[in-house]
Amino acid sequence: MTATCGDCPQCHHMLEQFENGSVTGVRCQFCGWSVVRTNHRSFTFDPQVYIVSLTDVVNDAAHVRAVSKIKGINFLQARNYIQTGDFSNFLVGRAVEINKDIEFLKKAGVNFTVSPEYPYLQNAGDNRLVYTRLR
Ligand SMILES: [Zn+2]
Repeated sequence: MTATCGDCPQCHHMLEQFENGSVTGVRCQFCGWSVVRTNHRSFTFDPQVYIVSLTDVVNDAAHVRAVSKIKGINFLQARNYIQTGDFSNFLVGRAVEINKDIEFLKKAGVNFTVSPEYPYLQNAGDNRLVYTRLR
């Protein structure tokens, strides 16, 4: 399945291309079928500043290492930081600035929240297609 324009696979009406924030794709105005993918162009130029807060950091090696690496501090400083228990505003920045760190948090198994909603979370780092229906 490709995202080129053509006939709708469901109703054979003409598909149209669209771009909407973090996604781009084609859709059928008639029946609502669509195929979308992450729009990396908007990812790069997304001016939104996101705030990442950690929700369950524990004093284990993987979490300490993640905090240490992302914050650019040593292991001991990272443990001290974790003991403060305050992980709001852990990361503040644009998508291009924080995406690598977010990937690192995911790999380390650290849970976190992003405000406002981070649209690149689901498939950050790859460009695989996501199939969806608009209605
Ligand atoms: Zn259709």
